[in-house]
Amino acid sequence: MKLETKCLHAGYAPENGQPCALPIYQSTTYKYDSTDHVGALFDLSAPGHMYSRISNPTVAAVEEKIAALEGGIGALCTTSGQAANLLAVLNICSAGDSLVAVPTIYGGTINLFAVTLKRLGIECIFVDGDASPEEIRAAFKPNTRLVFGETIANPAISVFDIEKFAQVAHEQRVPLVVDNTFATPILCRPFAFGADIVTHSTTKYMDGHAIQVGGVIVDSGKFDWQNGRFPELTEPDESYHGVRYVRDFGAAAYITKARVQLMRDFGCYPGAQAAFYLNLGLETLPVRMERYCKNAEQMARFFAASDKVESVSYPALPGDPYHQLAQKYLPDGCSGVLSLTIKGGREAAVRFMDSLQLATNEVHVADIRTCVLHPASATHRQLTDAQLVAAGINPGLIRFSVGLEHIDDIMDDARQALEKV
Ligand SMILES: *Cc1c(COP(=O)(O)O)cnc(C)c1O
Repeated sequence: MKLETKCLHAGYAPENGQPCALPIYQSTTYKYDSTDHVGALFDLSAPGHMYSRISNPTVAAVEEKIAALEGGIGALCTTSGQAANLLAVLNICSAGDSLVAVPTIYGGTINLFAVTLKRLGIECIFVDGDASPEEIRAAFKPNTRLVFGETIANPAISVFDIEKFAQVAHEQRVPLVVDNTFATPILCRPFAFGADIVTHSTTKYMDGHAIQVGGVIVDSGKFDWQNGRFPELTEPDESYHGVRYVRDFGAAAYITKARVQLMRDFGCYPGAQAAFYLNLGLETLPVRMERYCKNAEQMARFFAASDKVESVSYPALPGDPYHQLAQKYLPDGCSGVLSLTIKGGREAAVRFMDSLQLATNEVHVADIRTCVLHPASATHRQLTDAQLVAAGINPGLIRFSVGLEHIDDIMDDARQALEKV
């Protein structure tokens, strides 16, 4: 099936007389006929839902759909994108380990990696996304357990060279984790370029309507966990009577461990209602992504042509420094998010934003409605000036998230606001 078809049919196939729309299984618990069966669930030797902190039929259908869209073998939904990235890392990193990440990633992920994980004894080593393979290799330490990047960085709008990072990661026998939030599987499927694990904040395009926060981890099933570096996946788990994830779950070792161990312990699993809404968003994702890309490209060209604008970042534009990478990784478009710097720095940026009438000033991105954000005073407020520069953020930078309104209305609004700068 093609992506458009999977968005509608993967994960849930009603049988004769059953509802066409995905049912909401609003239940925390599941009935079993024998103590033996329940015991087998706790031993992970029988399939089935045990408790809705670990799995639920409605959420499972959405997980299967997202795994199908990414070309993975399994997925685990979480209550937020933050929880997805946290679990993706903690599944294979413990105190005393480190990870390598590019500094252009989402501000919330930088906080998580550089501040909170540090308190847990996990070090984050930052290496520039444009670094050479030698430089990336040099950043590794013997205790490095994974590499992390974002397909399209938020808000620098740089394109991550997935293949380059995957090659170095694999040479060092560690997996590459890619946050694919902005691209969505409609525009890029990182597994095809060597990524091993994909994460998403489903809060953005996947949900698409700004109605709820959510996340997901997807496993390609391709990484060799038996290379001697991941004992947590090959040695017995004492919290499950000696289950060995690779031996017992094969290619699904990583995603099974994330669910039955970390999700069991941290409990950040979404409810059935949340999964139902996410599924509605997924059903129309391909149609929406196509329009986002079309509208954003027109807005990028509009801003690039304005004498009030210093620079525009949108990799679909031929002059963009990431245009070549975009042609390779994002041939169908670069999503609806672009960034621009208005001449006149921070003050001009604020005047432009405050003059917008249709586009809303909000802490969100990849919304169905056009919205703007000033990263230096909002999402990236906690970063130092040096960190801002490393993340590709000028104090005058505006993140412009193009919505699905008619292009003429979005453009008229931007035009009148630019006139007031
Ligand atoms: C928003 C975002 C996150 C965090 O997701 P939440 O759902 O807000 O927790 C992570 N990564 C990227 C790229 C994001 O845009």
